[in-house]
Amino acid sequence: MNQNDDYDFIIIGGGPTGSSSAIYLRRKGYSVLVLEREKFPRQHVGESLLPFCYPLFEELGVLDEMKRRFVRKPGARFTNHDGTSSATWCFRNVIFDDSYLSFHVVRADFDKMLLDKAQSEGADVLEETNVTAVNLDRPDGIVEVKASGEKQFTARFLIDASGQDTFLARRLGDKTAYKDLDRIAFLTHWKGAKYSQGIDVGLLQICYLEEQKSGWFGIQPVGKDRISVGLIIDRKYLKQEKAKLTKAGIAEWQKALYMQEIQACALTRDILEHAEQAQPLIIVSDFSYYAEKTYGKNFAMLGDSGKFLDPIFASGVYLGMNSSKIFAEALDVLFKEGEEAGMKVMAEKKTQIDGAYNLVEKFIQIFYDPKSFNLSSLSSTSESGYGGYETAFAMFHYLLAGDFFNSYERYSDFLDMLQNPKQFARWKNLVIDRPNVHEKTCAANWELIFGDIDDAYIRATSINGDQA
Ligand SMILES: Cc1cc2nc3c(=O)[nH]c(=O)nc-3n(C[C@H](O)[C@H](O)[C@H](O)COP(=O)(O)OP(=O)(O)OC[C@H]3O[C@@H](n4cnc5c(N)ncnc54)[C@H](O)[C@@H]3O)c2cc1C
Repeated sequence: MNQNDDYDFIIIGGGPTGSSSAIYLRRKGYSVLVLEREKFPRQHVGESLLPFCYPLFEELGVLDEMKRRFVRKPGARFTNHDGTSSATWCFRNVIFDDSYLSFHVVRADFDKMLLDKAQSEGADVLEETNVTAVNLDRPDGIVEVKASGEKQFTARFLIDASGQDTFLARRLGDKTAYKDLDRIAFLTHWKGAKYSQGIDVGLLQICYLEEQKSGWFGIQPVGKDRISVGLIIDRKYLKQEKAKLTKAGIAEWQKALYMQEIQACALTRDILEHAEQAQPLIIVSDFSYYAEKTYGKNFAMLGDSGKFLDPIFASGVYLGMNSSKIFAEALDVLFKEGEEAGMKVMAEKKTQIDGAYNLVEKFIQIFYDPKSFNLSSLSSTSESGYGGYETAFAMFHYLLAGDFFNSYERYSDFLDMLQNPKQFARWKNLVIDRPNVHEKTCAANWELIFGDIDDAYIRATSINGDQA
């Protein structure tokens, strides 16, 4: 522990955003304190990771451990609700190094691994320490932080990485909901599910629900006998179904609704036919939202604490971790060159981070627009008017893999163009032309995906023993 409890940085939250910030800042030589409310490992949603995370894992020094512990993910498959059409998007169609093989993680395990790494890099970490108040307004700019157990700390800069708790945004009255993305998520793990239909080759499965539900199932294997199944639905539909279920006298209406939708979707009905729920149902109702002012001379909100977007494209962990990396460069300038230079670089980095988030937001809006393209029927062999434009397919692959921070303006223009199929040809030279094949397996097999991963955490947890 720092002797005077005085730090360069205090970080609220030890999730992937907080831990990555801590590691990048420690490597620049700063003293860092991470305050985390929970005792890790603790369960969390957000288990499917993008290939663009891979270089970050390598840089942070956790890649080998990731390979030993987590299921691999070679691509994503989109299926319509009755199972009559599906398209598989294999990352190796556009990514030619090892990073095409991404990961599905158990977040309890993954988040602990990163937090331990932050500690091993020299960050002080206090778990079971709930931050209760901060003062950002001292004339000297020093930040005061109060936490449970009457603990008090000071730092030169505060990073809010408190996730959906949005610690600072709530206190500053700066949290706005995206009304058109008002959805709710139900998620749990299953044992004894069928490892078929792409689960056996590690694909993230996205299953569209019927149009009026305006939602989807996200299904991914997180262990050799553990499948995560998340239901995301529109709040209007939820209210209507809740009324029906409660009128029918069903007390546990959330569970009943989740099970009802599992039965209504061909894919989940099939793979969960003989499965058993392996942990309590997690419900996440607070999305999507953003804060307007996400940084100042002595604070920054990173990851979900400043903005949360619908998880359809599994983007949250990468957005949070890469924003942490990018923003650490600006913070270094702030500390080394002073406020004027620091604020200028922070504004530049913020523009890049906003560009990435806005791109993902546009992709999400298109996903939910029933008049727009449907990723389950967009393939080179489909009848779709988009078929045949290989470069457009490559662009989709890159977006699904997480290429949000580099050419977000061009991707954004590209998505605008997609609204008009006749314009497609103009985009042919944007990325390398590749013959695109929507393979059923992404050339993966059980050995490649599950190999000899050590899913000890999964084996150790049961419906009674989870922290969820
Ligand atoms: C249903 C659903 C599915 C998702 N699926 C995916 C996916 O497949 N892939 C993906 O990349 N993302 C996914 N996401 C998004 C992903 O979960 C988040 O983007 C990601 O966890 C953000 O990381 P973070 O570190 O910013 O916040 P978190 O991971 O939430 O970490 C915040 C931490 O702060 C701590 N904390 C909060 N308040 C305080 C306080 N006052 N004092 C101390 N500590 C505090 C919390 O205990 C927590 O540990 C999904 C989200 C939802 C809702």
